[in-house]
Amino acid sequence: MHYLSTRASTGNPPERKRFCDILLEGLAPDGGLYLPEHYPQVNDAMLAKWRSLSYAELAFEVLSLYIDDIPAADLKAICLKTYTEDVFGSPEIVPLRPLGDGLHLQALSNGPTLAFKDMAMQLLGNLFEYELARRGEALNILGATSGDTGSAAEYAMRGKQGVRVFMLSPNGRMSPFQQAQMFSLQDENIHNIVIDGVFDDCQDIVKAVSNDLAFKRRYRIGTVNSINWARLMAQVVYYFAGYFQATRTSEEKVSFTVPSGNFGNVCAGHVARMMGLPIDRLVVATNENDVLDEFFRTGVYRVRQSADTHETSSPSMDISKASNFERFVFDLLGRDGGKTRALFHDQISSQGCFELASDPAFTMAASRFGFASGKSTHADRLATIRDTWARFGAMVDTHTADGVKVAREQMQAGVPMIVLETALPIKFAATIEEALGRSPMRPAGFEGIEALPKRFARLPADAASIQRYIMQNVD
Ligand SMILES: *Cc1c(COP(=O)(O)O)cnc(C)c1O
Repeated sequence: MHYLSTRASTGNPPERKRFCDILLEGLAPDGGLYLPEHYPQVNDAMLAKWRSLSYAELAFEVLSLYIDDIPAADLKAICLKTYTEDVFGSPEIVPLRPLGDGLHLQALSNGPTLAFKDMAMQLLGNLFEYELARRGEALNILGATSGDTGSAAEYAMRGKQGVRVFMLSPNGRMSPFQQAQMFSLQDENIHNIVIDGVFDDCQDIVKAVSNDLAFKRRYRIGTVNSINWARLMAQVVYYFAGYFQATRTSEEKVSFTVPSGNFGNVCAGHVARMMGLPIDRLVVATNENDVLDEFFRTGVYRVRQSADTHETSSPSMDISKASNFERFVFDLLGRDGGKTRALFHDQISSQGCFELASDPAFTMAASRFGFASGKSTHADRLATIRDTWARFGAMVDTHTADGVKVAREQMQAGVPMIVLETALPIKFAATIEEALGRSPMRPAGFEGIEALPKRFARLPADAASIQRYIMQNVD
């Protein structure tokens, strides 16, 4: 399998890269995102065989279609070591729970940091450790977080050989639970850095340090952000696992509703559907930051200014642009890299938006690719959390509530609808208390984490200070 960039020009033959070449990379050199040259197809025989596999075995089968530069026995060992009941809390790893009228909730949030990002990040940690050891290299991961990504990355990389994490977070912006998760880690290779500034300052510092090419090379700086293909690929697996649990034969179809921010999670659903998994519709659920809902309704993709980006009670979906969206648009445009570049590079930088309403490709977003969308607000979130609790005794987090709200609007008779649960309520306790007048349940092992000793450095919001800190903390 080879990978190409979404901005690869058709004129010159694209540089052909294999999986391990792009594993440790972020964006492609031309600014595009990597995708496989084609989507491997599954047939009825494969689906029938995969139906009875454990999650780890299923992961191995799916990943094998995309990775041909790691020996099969090694890849299998990595999958078996990653997806265990011990780490993910149940033998099914991603169990389904019925919520009435053909709606199901797929649990993706029982990993170490209680959000779905663990599903991919835990695999990434093991792949990084394996590949770095094979090359005899080391990597210093630099990232910025205001919540789930940073902790998922730290719990995936803690104690791993050859990897250090430097994670910047804005002073006082995370929920107390999220902060405690990160700052209580005592591992030598994990560095929490509190920045006197806001999240944008943290991101600017990461960009500035990554743009200092001499520093980047000398200190082997890397990232684990959501545009990494390996993360997306790992997420494809749970669409198969959810499908198998909701159906008895592969004649049946299911739909998925996905609480979306950067379009990483639902893009994995798109890949699963392109592989031939019988998915009827992929419903994108947004919060008040409705960049994606606007696109699927109108054909206009309009990046928001920071002043138009709302701080909501589902904060992990508070985005001004959707960084993985370019992958889907590339497929929508018949994989035309030149056209994709013209939209995402030229038009976005000059006008901040592009419009496909009159392009025949746009009508295919629904008919050929199965996409639909909807939006949920703070009031919807509260109402959905209350309703789901009252009728089913299920407490859902604020992001998942956005999904449930939109899923109920988009249900179609006879087609099971699976909502992806993206976090547990304990991570967003304040809104649960507002909705239910009680505190969310705290899973075993998380009692009193807010009181644990915290390990972090506090630095001013400038790139030079961060570079100095990195230099002092690598050998
Ligand atoms: C990251 C995140 C999302 C958004 O996922 P995308 O892949 O960016 O669309 C939704 N909910 C939670 C809880 C998250 O952590």
